[in-house]
Amino acid sequence: MSAKTSNPNTGGDGASGEKHVYAFGKQTDGNTKMRNLLGGKGANLAEMAAIGLPVPPGFTITTEVCKLFYKNDRQFPAGLNAQVEAAVKQIEEQEKRTFGDPKNPLLFSVRSGARESMPGMMDTILNLGLNDETVEGLAKLSDNPRFAYDCYRRFIQMYGDVVMGVQPRDESDHEPFEAVMDELKKELGVEEDSNLTPDNLKELIRRYQELIKERTGSTFPQDVYEQLWGAVSAVFSSWQNERAIVYRQKYNIPSEWGTAVNIQTMVFGNMGEDSATGVAFTRDPANGEKVFYGEYLINAQGEDVVAGVRTPKPIAELEKEMPKAFHELEAVRAKLEDHFRDMQDFEFTVENKKLYMLQTRNGKRTGLAAVRIAVEMEKEGLMSAETGVTKIPAESIDSLLVPVFDPAAMKSANVIGHGLPAGPGAASGHIAFTASAAEREARKGNKVVLCRVETSPEDLKGMLLSEGILTSRGGVSSHAALVARQLGKVCICGASDIKIDYAKRTLKAGNVILQEGDFISIDGTTGEIFEGRIKTTDSDVKRVLDGQMDGKNSYTYELFNTVMGWADKYRRLAIRTNADTPDMARNAVVLGAQGIGLCRTEHMFFEGDRIGYMRQMILASSEDERREALAKLLPFQREDFAGLFTAMEGRPVTIRLLDPPLHEFLPHDDTTRRELAERLGVSQETINERVRSLHEENPMLGHRGCRLGVTYPEITEMQARAIFEAAAQVGGVKPEVMIPLVGFKAELADQVAIVHKVAKEVMKEKGVEFDYQVGTMIEIPRAALVAEQIAEDAEFFSFGTNDLTQTTLGLSRDDMGSFFDSYRDKEIFTQNPFASLDQEGVGSLVKLAVEKGRSTRKDIKLGICGEHGGDPSSINFFHNVGLDYVSCSPPRVPVARLAAAQAAIKAKK
Ligand code: PEP
Ligand code: MG
Repeated sequence: MSAKTSNPNTGGDGASGEKHVYAFGKQTDGNTKMRNLLGGKGANLAEMAAIGLPVPPGFTITTEVCKLFYKNDRQFPAGLNAQVEAAVKQIEEQEKRTFGDPKNPLLFSVRSGARESMPGMMDTILNLGLNDETVEGLAKLSDNPRFAYDCYRRFIQMYGDVVMGVQPRDESDHEPFEAVMDELKKELGVEEDSNLTPDNLKELIRRYQELIKERTGSTFPQDVYEQLWGAVSAVFSSWQNERAIVYRQKYNIPSEWGTAVNIQTMVFGNMGEDSATGVAFTRDPANGEKVFYGEYLINAQGEDVVAGVRTPKPIAELEKEMPKAFHELEAVRAKLEDHFRDMQDFEFTVENKKLYMLQTRNGKRTGLAAVRIAVEMEKEGLMSAETGVTKIPAESIDSLLVPVFDPAAMKSANVIGHGLPAGPGAASGHIAFTASAAEREARKGNKVVLCRVETSPEDLKGMLLSEGILTSRGGVSSHAALVARQLGKVCICGASDIKIDYAKRTLKAGNVILQEGDFISIDGTTGEIFEGRIKTTDSDVKRVLDGQMDGKNSYTYELFNTVMGWADKYRRLAIRTNADTPDMARNAVVLGAQGIGLCRTEHMFFEGDRIGYMRQMILASSEDERREALAKLLPFQREDFAGLFTAMEGRPVTIRLLDPPLHEFLPHDDTTRRELAERLGVSQETINERVRSLHEENPMLGHRGCRLGVTYPEITEMQARAIFEAAAQVGGVKPEVMIPLVGFKAELADQVAIVHKVAKEVMKEKGVEFDYQVGTMIEIPRAALVAEQIAEDAEFFSFGTNDLTQTTLGLSRDDMGSFFDSYRDKEIFTQNPFASLDQEGVGSLVKLAVEKGRSTRKDIKLGICGEHGGDPSSINFFHNVGLDYVSCSPPRVPVARLAAAQAAIKAKK
């Protein structure tokens, strides 16, 4: 059986002289800096081996091989075979065991390992190298036949599933190997797996092999090299499985990166009561506290901990059960933090009292934990403030501002159960028991809490769409917990006092029985589960910012404030906000906004009486009539602007003149049209006629933006007057008047002339001087292409990347929903271009306009006010092209501050 079967899939290109395989162990070829080539896991295994931690020897097949594998129609490069065999040989010599030797077999684990960790998204095979003969060798060597047969049946199960595709046929189908096991246990009248005798396990192995034959028509391979190549191929292939693709999309991981494969000598946590396996974090990944945090299972393999099938014990208990291993682990914990200078998440196994390290990586953490760890590690001298800034995912600062349950509503809340708090925050929503039910409910616009016995990677999409996740089984490093933390989702796991019955579609907690669709609320910070819907309220940080709480009484606020202070120290970009009302503006200032980058004046016309006058203005049949209506709107506008100026206390305010197509303001239903006709003293037919005449086939490309001001200059006049009169009234402000949708120098010049004329008039009338600027949005490709001309009349540019994306891509902002999913699934769009800037396409226009604008006007002020102003990767781009500020919605301001600092630090490096 030890005869070598060469890898059948070789023959693709790829120079055979290239190094495809990197060893770790006694001889170590790699290090932590090589993560692009070796993947995160491979690089860190090498690093751990190099610093003397007890790592079972192994080798890594590089991500380059993965690329070649896909390039060559899933064939391996020519030189790989020999390099793998040489690496195996080296381990055989070190371990004094032989791969496939029936008497003294060497066994391997085969695991994926991409550049960025993608927990649970790709495939893993353990106990590889077992077959009908080597299992007997393992039974003798370990003097534990039960253990050997259990390893073999696990291996067949994993291999059958991952490599040979023996899987459930649909969501409600049972896992086929589990079904075979359950059947056998029923026949034997046995409850627990651990009650199966060696002979029972032998029978199970026979049935597993039969199942494989039945399902696939092939026999389970007995040749160990055939097993190895099958596993390597399956792991590379899992880079393109559906869940890995969904995960990559969510985290913007390019599909070109590929994964590495790590082949490592097996060590056994399931060799008996002196063996264990576990996962631990050097600090608490949920709240960042500096405590040793983790869990373990005695007599188990790693998969048992992560899969959440048995609920593991907290790591502190290991001190009593295995004091020596525990103290060794504590030393490892300190060494890891000291060496990697970040919170580590590691896997370990104790085999017959001996500790082995199987993996370490920078631990995933909640937003709160990311902030706390950075601040505390800076204090401990483990990282600098600058590194601290780069370690906090910009998006995660949001989680310090997320709502918690409203204390008043909590008084009547009924706690129905508890679980492990795994993702902080408060969530309330309809119960969904499957990922697809969650998806259906969320698509209807409803909030959902996904309630599962345990989650698996297939549930990712449903988890993404849920407000919160609740599981009744599994520990804090179960799949549900890991993924929820990354997604920033509220999560409780291992809530063993609730019973979920998928068949009956019920969740039972004590006497309370909830049905699918009923409301449930979960607190991922405390682990409490409540019946019904509970109102949520502002977080501590938010309350301090709003002046409802003293910052000294909140450690979370102190953390937030420290990190924001760091961010402000390192960033170059100013952060403004898109706000249309004084309330929004004040809210944004509290979050750190330094000005308003966009006030959309059309948003001010929908309130109260304004819409009536607005309609009167639109329906006017002559300029005089229009001016009459505009005169009525003027005081409202002036008041609005004065409110904004006051709220901004001297900070810059950019006000954009009317932008949308006029028919948006007209009444669409019969009753409102009738009322309007009465109010204006015209027939309803007149209204209908005017509405018809204003109808456009492509309103986004129609009579909107500066085109309105060009045809009806009196609108521009009124708005300019309102702005300047408000400026005169409030004093100490320097308004920036912004003309939208400009494509031609002449149309901008036309509008700018009106604004200057009105400014002069108001100054004269009020007898005051005020400073102001007139500029334009760059949101039509033509404006970017002739930006040197546009800059002659514009004192500033603000990139309207929403329209610039729409017009550059020829892609409607409003209608892309129908095909977006297909584009994303085929990875034509790796991200939604309206959320994250298309840097290659739209970005080139931004870059061009910056250069051209500056060539005419050296000190031209440059900003961006499209939605991309709050997106970290777009902010990085805007920093690099040299904009002066980004403007985003108020809640995104802290994210933008941090992202701007990260961009500056990255650029410096
Ligand atoms: C833009 O187009 O990017 C912009 C900010 O304007 P609006 O979204 O109002 O069209
Ligand atoms: Mg626009």
